[in-house]
Formats: sequence, C-alpha cells, structure tokens
Amino acid sequence: HDLRNEDLKDLRELGQGNGGSVKLVEHLPTGTIMAKKIVLIDAKPSVRKQILRELQIMHDCHSDYIISFYGAFISDPNICICMEAMDKGSLDSIYKKIGAIDIDVVGKVALAVLEGLTYLYDVHRIIHRDIKPSNILFNSRGQIKICDFGVSGELINSIADTFVGTSTYMSPERIQGAQYTVKSDVWSLGISLIELALGRFPFAESSSDDSDLSDFEGTLSPSRPNPLNTLTREQRDKKKKRKSKGVSLQGGGMTMSILELLQHIVNEPAPRLTPEGRFPKEAEDFVDSCLLKDPDARKTPKDLLKHPWIEHSRTATIDLETWASTF
Ligand code: ADP
Ligand code: MG
Repeated sequence: HDLRNEDLKDLRELGQGNGGSVKLVEHLPTGTIMAKKIVLIDAKPSVRKQILRELQIMHDCHSDYIISFYGAFISDPNICICMEAMDKGSLDSIYKKIGAIDIDVVGKVALAVLEGLTYLYDVHRIIHRDIKPSNILFNSRGQIKICDFGVSGELINSIADTFVGTSTYMSPERIQGAQYTVKSDVWSLGISLIELALGRFPFAESSSDDSDLSDFEGTLSPSRPNPLNTLTREQRDKKKKRKSKGVSLQGGGMTMSILELLQHIVNEPAPRLTPEGRFPKEAEDFVDSCLLKDPDARKTPKDLLKHPWIEHSRTATIDLETWASTF
C-alpha cells in the first residue's frame, strides 16, 4: 500500500539538517513507527516526480547495515521520505552527549559502514556521497546503519541547486572537482572515525592560533541564514568571548573561511588518529589508509573489509546492546 501524509501522526522531532527536518511519526493504519524526512525541493513538478521514481530503488536495498525504506511521496512543496527510525539517533549526537567514543565501538562503526558501502556499490552500483557521523545511525538493539545515500541523481541536483552546502567531510579530489567514486566515501569515513574517537571534528584544533579554522563546526553551509543558531548557548558564549580574528562565521566572511578549510584539506597532510600510542596501531593504520590523499592509492570499501583492524573488529565480542543501554 502507498504511504500518505494523512496516515502519519507526528510524534516528535528527531533532528534538523540542511535540506529539511526529520520527524518521528506513527503510521496509523499499521502502527509502524517511522522517521519521516521532509525535504524542500525547489523544482518543477516533473522533476519532483522523477526524484520520486528514482527513490524507489531504495525499496530494493536490503542490508543489516542500511536503513530500511518504507516509501516516499510528494507533499507540495516537499518530498517526504519515510524510513526506519533508529531510537539512539546518529553518532554525532551520541558523541556530543557522551564524549569521545571507545575505539572498540568505533571499530564496529567502521565495519558497519564498510559493509553498507560495499553492499550499496556491489549490488546497486550506488555511491553514498554523504558519509558523516550524522548519517550513521544507532539503535538500542546495538545495530549500526547508514542512511541518506545518493540514490537519486535528480535529488542530488536539486539540493545542490538550493543549497551551496559545503561538507567538510569532502575528499581532496572531490574538492578539486574530480568524479565521485567509492573512494571518496572512504575518505569521509576516515574523517568521521577520527571525529568519533577524539570526540571532536579533526580539523578544528590542528590549526590553533595562526588561522581561523578553529571556528569551524563539523559541517558548514553558506546558505544557512545564521550558522550560529546551530550551536548550543554555551558554544555561542564561548565564541563571543573568543577574540575576533577578522573573519566571522557569518555572511561573506564565512565563505572565506570555508575556502580556507577546503584549501587546508587539499594542501596540508591529512589528519590522523593522535596522539600517537593512544589508539591501537591497527586502528591508526586503518585511518591512515582511509585518508591517503591520492585516490588511486586509497583502497575501496570492499578491500578495506580485509584490513586487520576490521577483521579484528568483526570478531570483537563487545556488546553494543549493553553499550547502548548506558546512554
Ligand atoms: P544531517 O544528516 O545533515 O544532520 P538530516 O536532515 O539528514 O541532516 O537529519 C537530521 C537529524 O535527524 C540527523 O542528524 C539525525 O540525528 C536525525 N535522523 C535522521 N534520520 C533518522 C532516523 N532514520 N532515525 C533517527 N534519527 C534520524
Ligand atoms: Mg542525514
């Protein structure tokens, strides 16, 4: 049966993103709890219909590491995408709540993301394109799944038209305009894993005094009216206290800062799991191989599944269900 907006009862908001909001809803006819993502699409009805058609591929995506799809529909001027709700939310909200995530858990995250990416590419020739902690979800059964992959070319185009979103998880080759490949997702995975293991975005601290990069949040979008709204009150106060270095996060100044960050990613050595010795050697080595700046040298998700750290993570007996019950 087809999903209709009238059958969905809002329960609460799960989060806000660049393109819209995500709500927890109940599908009244069946009692199914779902996450409903509302995406505002500034496009012709024909394009909206095309997007809807392309999204149907998600009906064929079945993997333990991929969020299940319930259906999508147009609710003018929005497109609503209904998917499996994950009750522990995304990994960015988890680490912001409990701090740096234990490296053994991070190993399970790496394994799940690589499995999900390998499934998407091997079975459907889909490249994710947006790997970041907020697109890696967790539930109280201890499952880790990825969401928001690029199934619809038209949707990608439409969002690119409306939002000049600049993701800081972007690989050097993508910043320089090269084609997207599965290896670009591997770079984004490497950045995400460091962020989870350190409990902070890896580009933020490396550049202390001589640059404004310390002002960066995880993801920036120049079209967001006021990025400071995404910060907590505490973070805002801290920012106000911080001496201004001439580049503000708002308005035109922010665009400059984004360029600086992108330049940094292209020109400087990739971040690493530091300090040296704090994490297992195998984990350090895995992250290093995700963050090889030359995409030809970087491995594919499928090859990385054979990495010693991932093989070790696969057999590790850490109980994620118990871990989930601690927060
Ligand atoms: P972003 O991924 O950039 O944060 P989204 O609009 O995709 O923006 O999602 C907003 C937030 O909603 C996410 O950060 C996540 O915490 C939450 N969310 C998204 N999808 C789900 C889901 N299926 N189950 C639970 N929470 C979700
Ligand atoms: Mg998302």
